[in-house]
Amino acid sequence: MTEPIILPPASPHIAPPSTTLERIRCVLVGTTHTGNLGSAARAMKTMGLTRLELANPRHPPDAQALAQAAGADDLLQHAGVHPDLVGALTGCRLVIGTSARPRSLAWPLLDPPAAARLLLAEATLGEVALVFGRENSGLTNDELGCCHQLVQIPTDPGFSSLNLAAAVQVLAYEVRRAWREGRSEQLAAQPRALATAEALAGFHTHLAQTLMDIGFGHPDQSTKLLMRLRQLFNRARPDPVELNILRGILSAAQGRKGARRRSATPPPAADQQPKEPHV
Ligand code: SAH
Repeated sequence: MTEPIILPPASPHIAPPSTTLERIRCVLVGTTHTGNLGSAARAMKTMGLTRLELANPRHPPDAQALAQAAGADDLLQHAGVHPDLVGALTGCRLVIGTSARPRSLAWPLLDPPAAARLLLAEATLGEVALVFGRENSGLTNDELGCCHQLVQIPTDPGFSSLNLAAAVQVLAYEVRRAWREGRSEQLAAQPRALATAEALAGFHTHLAQTLMDIGFGHPDQSTKLLMRLRQLFNRARPDPVELNILRGILSAAQGRKGARRRSATPPPAADQQPKEPHV
């Protein structure tokens, strides 16, 4: 039987000393128009946000992006480019996604001032991210699964979708407003080390694999089931030790299933017994 592996506590993510605004990164996912990269950089810089991360942009920043940045070139030059969202979220303890429309699965939904206050409060403790989707289709369900909460700018319900850079501007402004008001000091952020976005992504991959290994759930329902489970763990916000315990349980479940499968298989006939022990 596989014993659960409980690893020693991982050292908490300690953000380098920097201002809270520097710890708030804007992540643009799958951006199609490079002009929007520049406009978003400009919107951020006007509000004192400096960290831009690009997840799988259709094109890297180009002359059109620089033209639209109108002086926020430094943000574009230093922007990290990642193959996917998880890569852009490395080290983050809190991830807030943005959405123009209500989603079928209930997500904790914040209004912009509440999102800004939460980002600032958590940024006093470590890295945080605000995630923006594609111009034509927003964020995929899988990407939403990386988010602890969603924020929606309360627009006219009949015409709810802002231009990408306009959405960045509104939310960056709310962050700046809350920062100026010093609201974060009054907020009780959770002063504990939390599992990072990449650790959570690894856990969810492990969880999905384990559910398949143990034959849990119907394949047709698994996408919805996995999304529900992601929401559950995002709400709980496990710390690194808790995540290690959960992964130990998953490994144990996988091991037992393997053992059961092995014991259900009749042993080979004596003359077919392997001479060398299996390693
Ligand atoms: N058609 C897309 C809208 C994409 S708009 C959809 O239905 O999801 C591009 C991005 O701008 C969105 O992914 C989101 O990041 C941001 N955005 C636009 N309108 C928004 C709103 N009302 N609230 C929050 N974010 C918004």
